[in-house]
Amino acid sequence: MAVAGVERRFGPGAAALAGVDLALGAGEILALLGPSGSGKTTLLKVVAGFETPDKGRVTLNGRDITALSPAKRNIGMVFQHYALFPHMNAAENIAFPLAMRGHARQSIREKVSSALALVGLSGYGDRLPRQLSGGQQQRVALARAIVFDPALLLLDEPFGALDRRLRTQMQAEMKSLQRRLGITTLFVTHDQEEALALSDRIAVMNEGRIAQIGTAEDLYRRPASRFVAEFVGEANLFRGRAGVIGGPAHARTVEVKLETGGEMLASLPPGDRAVHYGADLALVLRPERPRRLGAGDTAENRVSGTVAEATYLGETIRYRVALERGGEILLRWPAERERLAPGARLELGWSAADMTAVLWA
Ligand code: ATP
Repeated sequence: MAVAGVERRFGPGAAALAGVDLALGAGEILALLGPSGSGKTTLLKVVAGFETPDKGRVTLNGRDITALSPAKRNIGMVFQHYALFPHMNAAENIAFPLAMRGHARQSIREKVSSALALVGLSGYGDRLPRQLSGGQQQRVALARAIVFDPALLLLDEPFGALDRRLRTQMQAEMKSLQRRLGITTLFVTHDQEEALALSDRIAVMNEGRIAQIGTAEDLYRRPASRFVAEFVGEANLFRGRAGVIGGPAHARTVEVKLETGGEMLASLPPGDRAVHYGADLALVLRPERPRRLGAGDTAENRVSGTVAEATYLGETIRYRVALERGGEILLRWPAERERLAPGARLELGWSAADMTAVLWA
């Protein structure tokens, strides 16, 4: 599935989609992650055929489907509020897309029964939706979406209405089902953990565009913008002006004069061409990167400060450290390491490779 140059504008304000290009590999599961209003659902609707783009096109298996009606696209869908038909039992709900496509009664019976088995609901076929739990209803919706062997599966916040435990369980089931069937899947979420748990790659959306696309690790370790750095995971940000850019082409570094005084050395994202001498930069430092320096330890970047707050989070402890030169830094260290109490003074150090420089704007 691919979308190319897709734009969609509702009224005079900012465009809901301002030029989106996206290509999914066969069998890939990709998450659209982004803040409310960033265009995720609109993009999904364009792919599904419920919205017509003002510009651009959608292709599925090499075929242009931009002008096809939703029913002709061979796409399965599960939406948070795309409810089951309340007066039909589970089996009838799942049979519906097959009946619409004119399948024979015997074939429908067999496919419905194997779809029910696939989602772990054999024996529940004659239950009405109101006789099923929320998780079971979503499983029926999933079975209905995949029973006709769609070329693409679209999910819009499919587990958003479920409680946390059930959501985690459904994510695991969804992922294993997706893998077994090898079905190309695009899903929308505003929940980072869900994006991480389910997807091969994540496309982060902002203001109708894809801000960055990559694996969870790419986005976390090499964010391409301040928006992505702040939206994905926790980040310490330092602001400063770019000085000398050096290093080999595959590992360029930049000297940065900080707004608060002092200098730091950061790496540039691979292939970056935006950062230039004098540029206004955000230095992105993930909270697990700094280490504690002892007497005589050296580091490319160092700061000193005092622990202001320690929060136990299970496997990790989060420290808020007030810096001597002003501002603060967040740390996230394994809980089994030496514990620090509020008031403890410490020296912290990290290398240029631990910190990425992106444009502030
Ligand atoms: P959320 O996470 O809140 O669901 P989203 O990222 O899915 O948000 P969209 O629903 O795609 O965002 O909306 C993108 C923008 O387009 C928003 O500003 C929204 O108000 C606007 N929009 C979406 N649908 C319509 C519509 N039918 N008419 C007018 N404006 C719309």
